[in-house]
Amino acid sequence: MPLRELLVEELQDLFHAETQLTRALPRMAEAAHNPKLKETFQKHLVETEQHVERLRQAFELLGEKAQAKPCKAMTGLIEEGQEKIAEGKNKDALSSDLALITAAQKVEHYEISGYGTVKALARQIGEIEVSNLLMRTLGEEESADYLLTEAAKPMVQTAAYNENSKLKIHRHGPVSETSAAGAATR
Ligand code: FE
Ligand code: FE
Ligand code: ZN
Repeated sequence: MPLRELLVEELQDLFHAETQLTRALPRMAEAAHNPKLKETFQKHLVETEQHVERLRQAFELLGEKAQAKPCKAMTGLIEEGQEKIAEGKNKDALSSDLALITAAQKVEHYEISGYGTVKALARQIGEIEVSNLLMRTLGEEESADYLLTEAAKPMVQTAAYNENSKLKIHRHGPVSETSAAGAATR
């Protein structure tokens, strides 16, 4: 039964993806400067542990062994996250956090895509209980993505405001060191 085989393979991919994430998310949380962002990562770590657990349940319901198949995509996405963490050390807090968010949202979108597929496959072959389990996880991935967007909004605004202030200083011609600093914080 090819659909069932595909479902199991995709679940094995997600199983590896989620397991890797339970090790990566604590590092993302640690690297985040903004307390709200830190909390978002910590909250999603707890959810991600649940995602691993739900995948175990899905394998059990299907009468399959909980086995991982290397997910190269997630390995790469996590590597990019690690790069952002390392590069962030030489950046200001705001830029570093925004870079972390871009990496994290790519992870969420990969998961959203993966769970959308397995949920549909399970439903198609009549594995409704499995499908419902996967749908719950999908909902949490979507809300994690939404929370990251919400966390980014005020940061992007602040960054844009800061850049604008610098531009204004530039337009008004050369200013002394002290007045430039004053304008940037106003
Ligand atoms: Fe997940
Ligand atoms: Fe994968
Ligand atoms: Zn996730």
